[in-house]
Amino acid sequence: MKKYNFNAGPSILPAEVIRQTADAVLDFQGEGLSLLEISHRAKYFQPVVDEAVALMKELLRIPDGYSVIFLGGGASLQFCMVPFNLLEKKAAYLNTGVWAKKALKEAKGFGEAVEVASSADANFTFIPTDYEVPQDADYFHITTNNTIYGTELSDSKLADIYKKKGQVTLVADMSSDILSRPIDVSKYGIIYGGAQKNLAPAGVTFVIIKNDILGKVSRHIPTMLDYRTHIDGGSLFNTPPVLPIYSAMLTLRWLKQNGGVEAAEKRNIEKAATLYDCIDHSKIFVGTAKEEDRSRMNLCFVLKPEYQDLQDDFFKFASEKGMVGVKGHRSVGGFRASLYNAMDIEGVRALVECIKEYERKL
Ligand SMILES: *Cc1c(COP(=O)(O)O)cnc(C)c1O
Repeated sequence: MKKYNFNAGPSILPAEVIRQTADAVLDFQGEGLSLLEISHRAKYFQPVVDEAVALMKELLRIPDGYSVIFLGGGASLQFCMVPFNLLEKKAAYLNTGVWAKKALKEAKGFGEAVEVASSADANFTFIPTDYEVPQDADYFHITTNNTIYGTELSDSKLADIYKKKGQVTLVADMSSDILSRPIDVSKYGIIYGGAQKNLAPAGVTFVIIKNDILGKVSRHIPTMLDYRTHIDGGSLFNTPPVLPIYSAMLTLRWLKQNGGVEAAEKRNIEKAATLYDCIDHSKIFVGTAKEEDRSRMNLCFVLKPEYQDLQDDFFKFASEKGMVGVKGHRSVGGFRASLYNAMDIEGVRALVECIKEYERKL
């Protein structure tokens, strides 16, 4: 039976990326060596990093003056690397979910960390707008897509943030919506994310960084935690996660062949609309996120109160139809379907058909 992978992360990758990664594990570019056993410094691997960086710059139209680096440690390490490198006195955070809150918690160890607004009281079902960004902050941190709660900063909310931030450096965790739509990189000081949602298997983190925001804090930064080390070392200061970087490069090639982020956005709009339309017309399900803040990447829905006892039954039914990873995160409950770039419209239609079939047989 065909399986449809709706996991939130690690998550679906294009089938050809998985196949080509597997090929390279067996024989890297016809060299008679596995990707797993080549030197990261050899002539073999430098071109892979170079191509991945070049494709990130091209696809996201990253302006001059920015670097792209690949690191270990996940997005979670960035929660502390960002304040380590940028926080001298004060930082501001928009609290839109568990990941945002974890980032804020780390910053508190380095200076004053202000929560400008939070939707915690509403279980993060919406993105707050009623706040100001303190203009004496060293940076303002946002999470563009809240993987767990299925909310995302729309283009109009982002435009509002660009206004609100004034001259303050903007830092964004884009773990779960990077490359899903065009983004104006010039508005940001740092964009980072774990690659295992939309780009690569687990094990690599991407960081896009404006070079001239660095070097302004007075504390000592350990070598490995200093962005400048990895910019100067071209992501090869120490042994990088070779396999996930290789897969990331393949995913970027795939994305380029398929029309880049602009075309991906069109597909993502159609995919999300298809599933939301089904949920909005459902007899038994209801979406959890406020409509204007709904994510295109992670779609959360729960059973209406009168149908709560169908939880396990629907999950079993969906599993039997090949739907994988549709259980909601424990802090929201219900169901969540993640529609990352590699999920095609056929997969979404299959899930819609599964929901409709289940409702028909009730
Ligand atoms: C998954 C996720 C993280 C955590 O990523 P790790 O690479 O596991 O540390 C952080 N932020 C967001 C928005 C995420 O979706």
